[in-house]
Amino acid sequence: MSLPISFEFFPTKTPEGAARHAKVRQELYARRPEFCSVTYGAGGSTQSGTFGMVADIQKEGVSAASHFSCVGATRGKVRAELDELKSMGVKRLVALRGDLPSGYGLGGEFHYASDLIAFIREEFGDWFHIEAAAYPEVHPQAKSPEADLKAFAVKVRAGADSAITQYFYNADAYWRFVEAVRAMGLDVPVVPGIMPIISSTQLMRFSDACGAEIPRWIRLRLQAFGDDSASIREFGLDVVTRLCDQLRSQGVPGLHFYTMNQSVATLQICDRLGL
Ligand code: FAD
Repeated sequence: MSLPISFEFFPTKTPEGAARHAKVRQELYARRPEFCSVTYGAGGSTQSGTFGMVADIQKEGVSAASHFSCVGATRGKVRAELDELKSMGVKRLVALRGDLPSGYGLGGEFHYASDLIAFIREEFGDWFHIEAAAYPEVHPQAKSPEADLKAFAVKVRAGADSAITQYFYNADAYWRFVEAVRAMGLDVPVVPGIMPIISSTQLMRFSDACGAEIPRWIRLRLQAFGDDSASIREFGLDVVTRLCDQLRSQGVPGLHFYTMNQSVATLQICDRLGL
């Protein structure tokens, strides 16, 4: 039975990067993703970078999802940008609060992703399929796991159709989260976000920032490989393939790959899984 998959990219910054990424996308399209998504406002990228890549994906005949974060924005700005996406034929959004650089307060007319989701439904009806972010290991700024779960429920009740999780390497955290969501009477699909392990330092840096836990045994094994990148990749491939295989056999609704704009690691995982 085939499992729906999707791929996440971030906007490229140079013409050379864009040309390289066009090739990466073609390699990944061969796996027939349900959609490909492009991050918004992360890592110093611009809105035009996001919309440009979203337009390219649509032109290439693949369904594109634009990430969309609302932190610091006004209703007028959000409406205008969503109108632009609608006029481009984009039907899917990953609706987020986003993060302001440290030192900025939470200005703007939206405080949480749930405010954005409610606004999108109010203004655009059912035009967009809305994905919300989910945190099986708890969002780093949440007051408590319970409060975070309730915040997730508010996003779903505001109109999210489905969710994509922060990446994790502990399947139990995911299943407990899904059980808790079901116990609140919510039946939205919760698709696990999968982060291939490509580089040890990059993974540690991201995980510290987003609150994803790297289990001790993985961290220690990665440290022991030092700068032997071939061994890191082989070990990472093994760990992540097993995680995906386990999740699939337990009945996940799909897999969303954080590709880091590279095709090799994601393709290798897909190959091993027969996807
Ligand atoms: P929210 O759901 O609003 O939650 C933020 C925090 O507020 C949580 O701690 C929550 O518990 C709390 N909270 C929510 N509602 C309430 C309430 N009513 N009262 C009190 N507390 C509340 N970032 C980017 O900048 N660009 C991207 O493209 C991007 N893509 C992402 C894709 C995925 C799949 C994921 C999982 C994350 C992504 N992020 C991205 C990161 C995301 O923006 C950050 O994690 C951000 O800090 C939270 O965004 P959110 O939409 O989950 O926020």
